[in-house]
This record gives sequence, C-alpha cells and structure tokens, in this order.
Amino acid sequence: MIARFAAAALAALLLAPAPALAAAPFYDNAVVRFPKVRKDRMDLYRRSVVASLARGRIRSVSLVRDGKTKKLARRGDGVKKLKPVPLAGIAAIAYTGGQRFRGSELDLLVTVGSERVPVTLWHSGKGDVTVRVGKRMDHKPAFGGDTSTDRQEIRRRYDSGAIKGAGATWKARELKVLSGALDRLNRQERRVLDDVKIVRSRAGPRGPRNAALYIWGTEGYRLMVYDRAFAFDGRAFVGGPSKPRPFSSSAILHEVGHAIATWPARKLIEKGDISRARKVGRRGPVLSAYARARGDRKGPTRYGRSSLAESFSEAFALHKLDPAALKRWSPRVAEWFAEGGHIDSME
Ligand SMILES: [Zn+2]
Repeated sequence: MIARFAAAALAALLLAPAPALAAAPFYDNAVVRFPKVRKDRMDLYRRSVVASLARGRIRSVSLVRDGKTKKLARRGDGVKKLKPVPLAGIAAIAYTGGQRFRGSELDLLVTVGSERVPVTLWHSGKGDVTVRVGKRMDHKPAFGGDTSTDRQEIRRRYDSGAIKGAGATWKARELKVLSGALDRLNRQERRVLDDVKIVRSRAGPRGPRNAALYIWGTEGYRLMVYDRAFAFDGRAFVGGPSKPRPFSSSAILHEVGHAIATWPARKLIEKGDISRARKVGRRGPVLSAYARARGDRKGPTRYGRSSLAESFSEAFALHKLDPAALKRWSPRVAEWFAEGGHIDSME
C-alpha cells in the first residue's frame, strides 16, 4: 500500500479558484495534514467556511447528528448557521473545501489540544459537504476485544508464518493492530497466511512511499510492514467516527488482499506448474471475477485507480474495515464481497 500525504492551509484554499468539475464519489485515504485545531480560532474557521460558500468552493454544509442529516448553510448564509457544527468538524471543513477534495469521503482524526476527534467528511462531486463528528479520544484508535501482543500467540491463532523483525521491532501497539486486523479475516481468507512470514521492517524498496508489501514467489511469502504503515494512526482512521479503527490496519489488510488475489497462482507454484502460475499471476480468477463485479468504476480510493490489483486490495480492506464506505462507492462490489465472491473465485 502506498501512503500519501496532502497538506492543507486555509490561506491557499481561500485563494484557490472555484472548482468547475464535478467528481465521482470515492473513499479518500490520503491523509490530510493541517495545523492543530484551536478553540480560540472557531470564528476564523466559520468565517473561512462562509467565504468558501460565498465563492462556490463548497455549495452547502450539512451535519449528521443522532443518525439524522440536517442542512445548515448555503451560499449567502452567515456564520451563525454554522454554530451547531462542533469545533473539529468546522475546522475540518475549513481545511478541505477545495477542488482536490470533491467526491472524497475523508476519515480524519482532528487534533484538539491533547485529544483527537474522529471526523468523517463527505464532499459531494458538486461541493455539498456533510460532516459527522465522533467522540473525543485520549488515545489512538484501537481494536476492541481480544487483541494479542504476543507474537507466538498471534502466529498460532491465525496460522501464519513467523512474526519477526528485520531492522525494526514490533511494538506492543503494532502487534495489537496486527492481531486486530487479522481477526477480521474469516477461515477461508486466513488460509492465505499459511507460511507467510509477517516481517516488521523500517522501510520498503520505495522508501516512505511503501506502507506495507506482500512479496511472494518461488522463494517464499512475506508480508512486510514498514514504519510508514503506522505513521498516520494519529491523523486518520478507517471505519465510522463512532467506532474508528486504526488507519494502519488498512495497510495490513490491503496486503492480505494481494495474497488472496494471487492465491490461485501460489497454488500452481507449489505444484511446480511455474508457467501456468506466471499466466495466472497477472490476472487470475480472483481479479477477473472482481473486474466483472466492479464494471467500469475506478477506485475505491485514489490509489485504487492505479490498477485492477490495487483496486481489489483497497476494496478488500474497506470490505473488512469500512463496509459502509465501500457500499457508498459501489453497492455491487460491496455485495460481491459480502457474498464471498472473492472466496469462491480463489478455488
Ligand atoms: Zn498494493
């Protein structure tokens, strides 16, 4: 998985021209970096959103509260209308109201003082912004329940290869993310972990661009997890704002997605049928079935547009961690995963 960063600044957004193009909706897992949000700047955030409305950079602002969506402000409205939006929400709108974010669904952790607030933003293709704000947290998102910090225990539980370090060591919190992520897998999906070494390392071949990698071939199978995978757990999350999950878990499950997509080729390699494995390796039965379910939709993330294989892995991670977001992108793909289309095509 590739980790991306987008920096946002109020001044730059205020100077940007009003966007002309509508964008198709997608799940945006680019991490948006903006300064610490401060209560004494509340008025500045509100005024900047009003300015964005006036200039047509955003068309309306809606707030989701208690499961209901209410439209609060449109062009020409003043700051008063924005009062129901909590601080973290209004700041997040102020920093993301531009062309770059049209169509995006963003799951951000907004830092307020020493705490983090999960905020989900939906930017429609035409500039309507809907915001949902979760509860303040004094820690990074974590998986609840029975997550383990013991490498032997995790290995036994999920039947993987050895869990090791190579130039880096697994921290307790990272092992919890790993076991929480693997716990999302069902029995059939877990098969792909067989003999896969799970290796914590500093950086991948493309440096900070690699968050994690699945490396496979005749010399064995490794799921590499790099520093970069955990670098954004304080800035973004995946899932809903009422139940935020660690951003890093999506990097791990993305790679499991590659292991699933290449499973049929792996089976051929293990039978010694290298030439057929090569053919199936590029686009085997899993990716072919996925392509039919997906149709001509590109996504579900920016990175997922780069190839069919990356699209599948991004969609698989969302299926496990944020199925509602996957469904918003493509109800057909969400249903295909929910019905086990990826598992049936592995056989
Ligand atoms: Zn990938």
